[in-house]
Amino acid sequence: MNRDTELARGGLPALDRATIHPFVDATPGPFFYQRMAHPVGAEAERLVGELEGGHALLFSSGAGATTALVLAMLGPGATVAVAGGGYYGTVGLMRELARWGLAVEEFDQTGEPPVADLVWLEPCSNPMLTFPDLDVAIGRAHAAGAVVVVDNTVLSPALLRPLENGADFVLHSGTKILAGHHDALLGVVTCARAEDHARLHALRSVSGIVAAPDPAWLMLRGMKTLAVRVPRQSATALELARRLEGHPSVERVRYPGLGDPVAAKYVDSFGPLLSFDVADADRAAQVERSLQLIENATSLGGVTSTLEARARYEGARVPPGLLRLSVGLEDVEDLWADLARALGG
Ligand code: PLP
Repeated sequence: MNRDTELARGGLPALDRATIHPFVDATPGPFFYQRMAHPVGAEAERLVGELEGGHALLFSSGAGATTALVLAMLGPGATVAVAGGGYYGTVGLMRELARWGLAVEEFDQTGEPPVADLVWLEPCSNPMLTFPDLDVAIGRAHAAGAVVVVDNTVLSPALLRPLENGADFVLHSGTKILAGHHDALLGVVTCARAEDHARLHALRSVSGIVAAPDPAWLMLRGMKTLAVRVPRQSATALELARRLEGHPSVERVRYPGLGDPVAAKYVDSFGPLLSFDVADADRAAQVERSLQLIENATSLGGVTSTLEARARYEGARVPPGLLRLSVGLEDVEDLWADLARALGG
């Protein structure tokens, strides 16, 4: 079935918040206790699994999904290589887990991954917007014995399906483009193999790092429009990236749609996220304060555009004047007028 039809067809399940369902004939059913599974979550997992081409599981957040994945798949002494320039929370979490015996290193994902037990890639990395050569990087990581996770948060399965490139796991902050409306916190892992799914499900059940029915339902509803939101957000992001490139106050624009040949091998649309650099932190703060339409807020992938300076969280990991913009569904001319006014000139 066509992917757009798969997303749009059928109704939404009832928002069943029950934490228990009665046993049948003295036997617990699949939804006997919500920490193990619940009907809305199961439907969301079916849909994401179908889109990604694997076996999906929901978690309480993207970070919760990362925690569960690492705890389920790795043990003390394991090594993790994480894409540099990617989500700072992922590497921060890995470093936190160093106390439990994990060795972590960041690497340039546009080159060869180092030898590690787990290699973590992030196409359209947040916020540096680098793009790995997925087939090559996954092939090399596998040849060196690593398991590969691709964080597909920024592009979503509407644009990229990393299991088809050989990834072992795909991770999402469902909070972002999947749910799409800045009103639900949850995460997803899609496993290529049923046995990994079983292992991760077992860890989730005992740890309780599980998404509740409400955010799962909001994500399901958000996904009904994924196939129209993503191309529109991507088209607007590309247009804004082009205009920002020509603005005298902008020193650099980071967006794979501006001619990254590696990204173009894998996607024909480049998602809602871009970054651009102004001169320094003061200029960045001035832009943040001057916006009237775009929300000066964190997060990405929602219908409302958001912009923020990333150095406040990431320090020297990013340039002091780097502004991250997530493009929503507003009209491109209105967005440009807001940006141009905030940038001055
Ligand atoms: N992965 C990426 C690429 C992200 O941008 C984020 C959050 O910003 C996460 C993972 C973590 O997701 P969450 O905030 O849902 O825990």
